[in-house]
Amino acid sequence: MTRTPLMAGNWKMNLDHLEAIHLVQGLAMALDDAGFDYTSADVVVIPPFTDIRSVQTVVEGDALKIAYGAQDVSTHASGAYTGEVSAAMLQKLGVSYVVVGHSERRQYHGESDALVGEKARVTLEAGMTPIICCGEGLDIRKAGKQVSHVLTQIDGALEGMTAEQAAKVVIAYEPIWAIGTGEVATPADAQEVCGAIRTRLGELYSPELAGGVRILYGGSVKSSNVKDIMAQPDVDGGLVGGASLKAEEFAKIAMFQ
Ligand code: PEP
Repeated sequence: MTRTPLMAGNWKMNLDHLEAIHLVQGLAMALDDAGFDYTSADVVVIPPFTDIRSVQTVVEGDALKIAYGAQDVSTHASGAYTGEVSAAMLQKLGVSYVVVGHSERRQYHGESDALVGEKARVTLEAGMTPIICCGEGLDIRKAGKQVSHVLTQIDGALEGMTAEQAAKVVIAYEPIWAIGTGEVATPADAQEVCGAIRTRLGELYSPELAGGVRILYGGSVKSSNVKDIMAQPDVDGGLVGGASLKAEEFAKIAMFQ
């Protein structure tokens, strides 16, 4: 089954709404100048909540073929949940993707696999695509337990999810030791875990379903290493942090071929 590659730029807590407009316009210009074929990969920017409305205005106003996402979502529909943002609110702003379970949220906000799964489900129910993040820390990698660790995270996040829902998710394998460190996993490291995730999807659902789910690698992806990572059979794209904050660099990453 052919899977359209997906390059998603996670801006994390960077850029105010004016800088966000500048970056999206710069990215579109860089892609256009390079003759980017928008059917070759889906390009997504994932700004902080406060920038989403501005990004929407640019994307819709200039009819850009760039999608945008959010970095988190509440599991609650509405009500007394100070500081939270619901899936319906995001959907109304034209958001297509929601990152759930990023390692920084797991680490600083204690998010469990069950909570990550719940966030994925509310995202799907609102008609958006969850990007479910998973990945091991350095201690687990050193102990050689990365595959079993990641599969436990995946099992937990997908528990109770129907095949119809699971077919629509995106999974991002992000070894924590490679995030923001400049230390990128080798293509073989990325393939080992992404391949194991696909096998697990096949066991949990079916090989056909597994063959259609996009699995991304994240962790210090740059234009200089993206090609080798994308050459791996079970890697369908990247979740890119630091390098997505530079328009030309992220455009080059999207044009990895
Ligand atoms: C990330 O934020 O998900 C990430 C992979 O960051 P970086 O590309 O900077 O390592």
